[in-house]
Amino acid sequence: MSGDPPPPPPAPAAPDPRRGIPPVDGVLRHPAVVDHVALVGRQRALGVAQAVLRQAREGALPPDDVVEEVAARLGGLTAPAGTRPVLNATGVVVHTNLGRAPLGAAATQALVDAAGYADVELDLATGRRGRRGGDVVDALLRAVPEAGDVLVVNNGAAALLLAMTALAAGREVLVSRGELVEIGDGFRLPDLVGSSGARLLEVGTTNRTHRADYERALAGSPAGPGVAALLKVHPGNYRVTGFTSAVPVADLAQVARAAGLPLVVDTGSGLLEPDPALPDEPDARSALRDGAGLVVASADKLLGGPQAGLVLGDADLVGRLRRHPVARALRVDKLTLAALGATLRDPRPAPVTAARRAGAEELRERVEALRWTLARHGLTAEAVPHDGRVGGGGAPGVPLPGWALALPEGLAGPLRLGDPAVLARVHEGRCLVDPRCVPPAQDAALAGAVLAAAGGVGDVTAGGPPAGGPPAR
Ligand SMILES: *Cc1c(COP(=O)(O)O)cnc(C)c1O
Repeated sequence: MSGDPPPPPPAPAAPDPRRGIPPVDGVLRHPAVVDHVALVGRQRALGVAQAVLRQAREGALPPDDVVEEVAARLGGLTAPAGTRPVLNATGVVVHTNLGRAPLGAAATQALVDAAGYADVELDLATGRRGRRGGDVVDALLRAVPEAGDVLVVNNGAAALLLAMTALAAGREVLVSRGELVEIGDGFRLPDLVGSSGARLLEVGTTNRTHRADYERALAGSPAGPGVAALLKVHPGNYRVTGFTSAVPVADLAQVARAAGLPLVVDTGSGLLEPDPALPDEPDARSALRDGAGLVVASADKLLGGPQAGLVLGDADLVGRLRRHPVARALRVDKLTLAALGATLRDPRPAPVTAARRAGAEELRERVEALRWTLARHGLTAEAVPHDGRVGGGGAPGVPLPGWALALPEGLAGPLRLGDPAVLARVHEGRCLVDPRCVPPAQDAALAGAVLAAAGGVGDVTAGGPPAGGPPAR
């Protein structure tokens, strides 16, 4: 039988507040916590408990609150599974599995402002019906003065589908054989265009297509419905190298004009104007200046906006798309319009642009700072040079020089399951944490997540002794 414990001897000084900190096993077995552990799994619960205990040891949390805090955090993880935020530590800027472009602060605020009743189709000055998305149209026309009109739809695929449906259903569309791309997830451009009722007429070969190929196809096209448009697609997720040749937009536009047909250019990545850092990436302004009738693109790749598809170009052609019944089925919601408008008006570079342009030296300093934070908690890790990527079907093969923290491969799983969740890159037996796409304000959270994932492991060096300083590049 256990009675009350004998009173402790009087302490000579103030008692160490850390003495009341419970052991990690005691926390995980506590009745308020144990059900959460069963739901999230012991590994993940352990990481959370250790992070909370560390806070308590540092005096940031009263020991008596540890159990409650762990229960609350685990409860948050098991709350109805919605979309969870992830720190993108892969170095891949436009990461399709992470929702492509992250929105900037202004666009995020615009989403909140538009969430309730909003002046989506109301002119507050007159009280009359207003133009839906008028501010987005205006912003796009300012950004791309070569366009006579613009239309915003659900995504890039919807923009292409609408263009093909409105301009070429029941007729033929000329396209280079080298541009019949699979966009991702088994989704193929020829199938998409085919579903519009247009028939693709392939010209040229996989690696080489010449202007004469298009001209021959036009001359030999059967009488009847015939060719309705020329299509040029930028294969954004791969690159054919070696003995290759493609027809530039300017030449193709001449062929199209001579035949009295529209040229539709799918640039994919959504750059509105040329970017010297990505010389091979097509942009809307150049394509229209070179004579394209319509440009279609995604808004959530290099433009850095929400998921949407842009159609820019000749006012008559855009008008034909806008008036087609299918356009109503591809209409974007008010949240998309709000976020897209704010992205276009924001003078600061979009998060994808900032991440893309982050310099190697700046990234090296952030990795070093992370390394020191870990070292202060007894974890050693190595800083290694690491190339980021544009990703998301843009600028294939263009490296973005930077740095990463090299950790043991086994930490990738716990990092994904941590709080915050961190997606790192597993490469050649190591788990690489690249800060390029992590907002600098989140570096402390990133360090905390690594510490929690390492769960008290004293050495998180991935192979070899920790480097004394960063290796020279
Ligand atoms: C990404 C891409 C698409 C599809 O755009 P979504 O916005 O994903 O629908 C179409 N064409 C090209 C060339 C692309 O790169």
